Amino acid sequence: MTVNLLDLDGDGLTAWFAQQGEKPFRARQVLRWIHQFGQDDFDAMTDIAKSLREKLKALAVVAPPPLVSDRLSGDGTRKFLFDVGGGNAIETVFIPEDDRGTLCVSTQAGCALDCAFCSTGKQGFNRNLTTAEIIGQLWQANRALGVTPRNERVISNVVLMGMGEPLANFDNLVPALRLMLDDHAYGLSRRRVTVSTSGIVPAMDRLRDTVPVALAVSLHAPTDALRDELVPINRKYPLRELMAACRRYLEKAPRDFITFEYVMLDGVNDREADARALLALTRDVPSKFNLIPFNPFPKSPYRRSRAERVRRFQEILIEAGVVTTVRKTRGDDIDAACGQLAGQVKDKARRVVPVVPGDRAVPREVMA
Ligand code: SAH
Ligand code: SF4
Repeated sequence: MTVNLLDLDGDGLTAWFAQQGEKPFRARQVLRWIHQFGQDDFDAMTDIAKSLREKLKALAVVAPPPLVSDRLSGDGTRKFLFDVGGGNAIETVFIPEDDRGTLCVSTQAGCALDCAFCSTGKQGFNRNLTTAEIIGQLWQANRALGVTPRNERVISNVVLMGMGEPLANFDNLVPALRLMLDDHAYGLSRRRVTVSTSGIVPAMDRLRDTVPVALAVSLHAPTDALRDELVPINRKYPLRELMAACRRYLEKAPRDFITFEYVMLDGVNDREADARALLALTRDVPSKFNLIPFNPFPKSPYRRSRAERVRRFQEILIEAGVVTTVRKTRGDDIDAACGQLAGQVKDKARRVVPVVPGDRAVPREVMA
């Protein structure tokens, strides 16, 4: 059976090479070719013996998900759409900033957790992405974006904040995270890789004990009553348990705070009293807040909080000594902003059509 080498992290590749009677340093060489040089053609791996290249050609492939479209927003944000088969597509967003370039990566086609304000959630759950499909987004984006004039990678940070709940796809996520951190692959520090979770408590503990990268928790509400409604997984792992899991995570985290994400919904969770309740809730968790103006999508029942409200909310948190930023809305002209990622599926005529009825995205032809 042909093996997709993008499914294997450093240890996995070394073990597979051992099965073929090959030495560990050969595995490292191939790992560098694939991930550092973006090479998918074994014949181009010139310092590998011809006999090994022939063996690799017979047994293995380097197969990322195929790129279907690549759109550039007016603000420099770039959205990639990948075909992951069976009528499913996933999205990856590159966000350039002055001091860094961040790639926002998807981990599932759709999402089962059905948060009330999320377009991906409204799409329902299709399937988990494989390790090759997760790391393949970084592999493809690196290829498309290249290096800076100073020969540095354009992508300096990765956030697992695209479509899907990363911690609900733990087993495929972990090798992808290991590749991001591996010096023979992408060599990112643990601080520059952030997993965003809606709060799957047991998986937060597993992540802490396996690959403790930076953690962002999607909080969105200061009370269980409201959070049960907005983030239904809260009914299983309520706030008290979630806060305790955050404290445990901090024992091994690469940063000494948890980032709490908080989507600002007009009249729902944006009152001054909500800000004060949040301060009480997170009193024992060293944290930073990231307020996200709600990004509307067709048929969503919510509205974005007014800028003035967001500012007042931010002020209250800052006055209490909590670092609080307001996320700039980027890429919304190409539906690439937080929570707008919905992917697209092919209809029977093999066209790509929007999943969400009335989505603004323009249907486009795809190569079969
Ligand atoms: N499933 C993970 C990661 C993907 S969602 C999680 O929930 O954390 C990434 C972030 O986008 C989360 O904080 C999520 O709450 C936020 N988000 C979802 N829908 C949004 C919307 N319509 N507007 C703004 N942010 C949204
Ligand atoms: Fe899933 Fe995150 Fe969207 Fe909730 S916000 S439905 S967990 S992708």
